[in-house]
Amino acid sequence: MNNAIPATMRAARLREIDGAVRLVVDEVDVPTPGPGEVLIRVRACGLNQVDLLTRDGKTPADVPLPHISGTEVAGDVAAVGEGVRKWRGGERVVVDPVLSCGECAFCRVGRDNMCLRGRIYGVQTHGGYAEYAIAPAAQLLPVPDHMDHSTAAAVAVTGPTAWHMLRRRADVRVGEDVLVIAAGAGIGVLAVQIARLAGARVIATAGSPDKMSRAVDLGADHVVNHRDPEWADQVRTWTGGRGVDLVFEHVGAATWEGSLHAMARGGRLVTSGGHSGFTVSLDLWHLFVKEHTVIGSFAGSRQDLVDVLGLVAHGEIKPVVQDTVGLDGIEGAQRLLEDRGVFGKLLLDPTRQIGGSRR
Ligand code: ZN
Repeated sequence: MNNAIPATMRAARLREIDGAVRLVVDEVDVPTPGPGEVLIRVRACGLNQVDLLTRDGKTPADVPLPHISGTEVAGDVAAVGEGVRKWRGGERVVVDPVLSCGECAFCRVGRDNMCLRGRIYGVQTHGGYAEYAIAPAAQLLPVPDHMDHSTAAAVAVTGPTAWHMLRRRADVRVGEDVLVIAAGAGIGVLAVQIARLAGARVIATAGSPDKMSRAVDLGADHVVNHRDPEWADQVRTWTGGRGVDLVFEHVGAATWEGSLHAMARGGRLVTSGGHSGFTVSLDLWHLFVKEHTVIGSFAGSRQDLVDVLGLVAHGEIKPVVQDTVGLDGIEGAQRLLEDRGVFGKLLLDPTRQIGGSRR
């Protein structure tokens, strides 16, 4: 072990699921990496809707308590466990958050996001809401040269998720009309850019005038406020009454009906989330008469993360980071995320104390 590693660290921990007290910043022991594991000094950790689902007991997965959440982690290798040859102290790494076995039928064909023994980092394991975090060495990728930790953390989940949805699952094509629901969300921001990069025309929804204008800045051709009850009709109007070829969905119950209404005959809808509600209705008559395709998409594969890091490194797409907080600011930042007050990403920098100074 490196002498510079302290015995204890600060960590924002969830002591109970769906409890009155949410996150508490504790002084806890710095964990020791086991065989095949790496200790990372966390430099940036993105906040994600899944953190809120974990907090509120809405993930089906077992969550170890007290829990350190945080799925989107970038940092520096601080120490390595037994048998780890690939990584050395000081190397800059980002965690692929879909923990996969590398051996099952899905892993063998590169669909490791579907791993039969898959787990989500920072949900079923401890994650990055702390000064140090443990991750399996096999789940790490190098942060590209000239990319800062914040950028890597900001795309670690949103990037492969949006890329997997649009490119691998829905196969977005040149000239298509793509509707991006909630373009101000972490994945929405990247979806607008990925669809544009593919040569599609982008229609976006956003929940406030400010977010609407920022979606235009990102490259959306038209933006409608999804709080307007007629928003899906407006989308149809912009497509000459035809509807869009592809809907990028990740909100769920709150936008589902409008998303289906906005689809063209022969259109596709790809979905990767449903934090506003997972149960929706589907009119089979419309589904088969209009030959609609509804596509599920889960996170991203290792290759998706590699591809996205390359695109970001080359300036083809870039995340939007609204703010960075210290450990004491996480609870407030989660509230902001919950209240839809975020455009792009909120990040944690655990080295930052109250007032923004570094430790
Ligand atoms: Zn597997």
